[in-house]
Amino acid sequence: MLATNGIPTAEELAPRIPPAERLKKGPVAIIECFQKIPCNPCSTACKTGAIEKFEDINDLPSVDLEKCTGCGLCISKCPGLAIFVVDETYSEMEAAVSLPFEFLPLPAEGEEVDVLDRSGKTVGRGKVIRVRNGKYEDRTPVVTVAVPKELSMVVRNIRVGGDRR
Ligand code: SF4
Ligand code: SF4
Repeated sequence: MLATNGIPTAEELAPRIPPAERLKKGPVAIIECFQKIPCNPCSTACKTGAIEKFEDINDLPSVDLEKCTGCGLCISKCPGLAIFVVDETYSEMEAAVSLPFEFLPLPAEGEEVDVLDRSGKTVGRGKVIRVRNGKYEDRTPVVTVAVPKELSMVVRNIRVGGDRR
């Protein structure tokens, strides 16, 4: 499926999803990068060494789940928009999903937005809790949205504006 429509299957995603025990500890990066291409800014962006340095520029990134603090500094550095941070400890009922968002308008903090799955289908509504769009992000803003916890591994984009389901 990935090769034909760009959407990974559950089987392809499974190795990228941290175990429940790690998710209970706090935010963690999930890197949905599947193709060996000459690209490595994720590994150079990570200051904790959680993304191991590549031996070959075509290597696929691998996250050390214990070293990852969920800081999100790698999100805006990925040209493939393939990095997300999921925090399942955000609240009892909600998870916080941080994602790269290169559309205009940007949402405002506190705004309610449609939340979308990997195919672009609306799967619910979420509340924007943070927008990072400074010099560091370099025109790839990072939006953090609170979503129902059961959607933490489903939501990978947002649509700003009214409910258009
Ligand atoms: S979220 Fe932070 S610590 Fe984790 S891999 Fe990305 S840059 Fe490294
Ligand atoms: S920066 Fe993004 S596209 Fe490039 S290797 Fe890292 S995760 Fe993959």
